[in-house]
Amino acid sequence: MTRPFNFSAGPAALPEEVLQQAASEMLDWHGSGMSVMEMSHRGKEFISIAQQAEADLREILAIPANYKVLFMQGGAIAENAIVPMNLSSRGGHMDYVVTGSWSLKSQKEARKYGQVNVIASNEADGHTTVPDPASWKLSRNAAYVHVCSNETINGIELHELPDLKALGCDAPLVIDCSSHIASRPIDWSRVGLAYAGAQKNIGPAGLTLVIVREDLLGHALPITPSAFDYKIVADHDSMYNTPPTYAIYLAGLVFQWIKRQREATAQGELQGLAAIEARNIAKADRLYGYLDASGFYSTHVAANARSRMNAPFFLPADALYEPFLAGAKAQGLLQLKGHKSVGGLRASIYNALPLAGVDALVAYLKEFAQRHG
Ligand SMILES: *Cc1c(COP(=O)(O)O)cnc(C)c1O
Repeated sequence: MTRPFNFSAGPAALPEEVLQQAASEMLDWHGSGMSVMEMSHRGKEFISIAQQAEADLREILAIPANYKVLFMQGGAIAENAIVPMNLSSRGGHMDYVVTGSWSLKSQKEARKYGQVNVIASNEADGHTTVPDPASWKLSRNAAYVHVCSNETINGIELHELPDLKALGCDAPLVIDCSSHIASRPIDWSRVGLAYAGAQKNIGPAGLTLVIVREDLLGHALPITPSAFDYKIVADHDSMYNTPPTYAIYLAGLVFQWIKRQREATAQGELQGLAAIEARNIAKADRLYGYLDASGFYSTHVAANARSRMNAPFFLPADALYEPFLAGAKAQGLLQLKGHKSVGGLRASIYNALPLAGVDALVAYLKEFAQRHG
């Protein structure tokens, strides 16, 4: 039986191979006689799972040795508070760039913990562009500069992370990369801290990844809950409290799946994250290419700001949404409804969604446009 293609924005599709492996190991992990869910997080079995997951993630994302990888909980929304609790004491204002719903939420939460400056915003154009970093009004002595590098709801991606040093700013860049982590490489020379909820691109809900440069540890406000103090979490190898063990295990299987990927391109065969990125570019090109050419569907985001992961698009009449979604479901194309704040439709085409899924979607889009155009 072939499974439907799942375009959910999150919790989102996982690679079928990973789900099958997890199913086969469900009752007895590697002859231990236990499910991963039933193991002590301090036993040698689970410690080996967590260490392998971290080592594979470090390899995939080329994380430098002076960065800690933390397995936390609470999701990216909790990080909206945890980041300022840990970093606000380092400087004066906390600088935020607003590019969509998620960064808007981040800066609002940070206001509970200190002075926030919104140094650039695309609110005036309805969150459809990325403000040029050269125009950002960076604060002097900022504690950090926060961006959401992929706005899941609005469909905006920062295709290049800002080089704050080149802009004369020494503050660390903090990125919410929840919805495109492991879809492309990260230039760590530009990033002080990256956080991501797992449920978009790397695993099930319940795990939050924090990757943080070591010099940013140890600045937490006294009110910071111990379980959310990055230094305490780092000093305990993410086991200060019981970590989300099963979610870490599944993310680890996803990391191994990423390492196994191969993609033949004109430049030769690519492996691992490079293969994933090439495939993501091909998927996005195919989808946006059809939407642009269709003369039926419309998009709102500026071409150079379009997300490779989340593509919001619209039909020419409101009455068409219901038949569109019902027809899509009947064809095995699931969860294409847009976010309520943006409306319309949204195709999330994360790592686990194969090119064949985009092809099946485009075939349906064509057929629907012919019938209703
Ligand atoms: C999904 C998402 C969030 C919220 O994640 P939670 O796990 O619900 O806290 C925040 N930021 C971005 C960019 C997201 O995609």
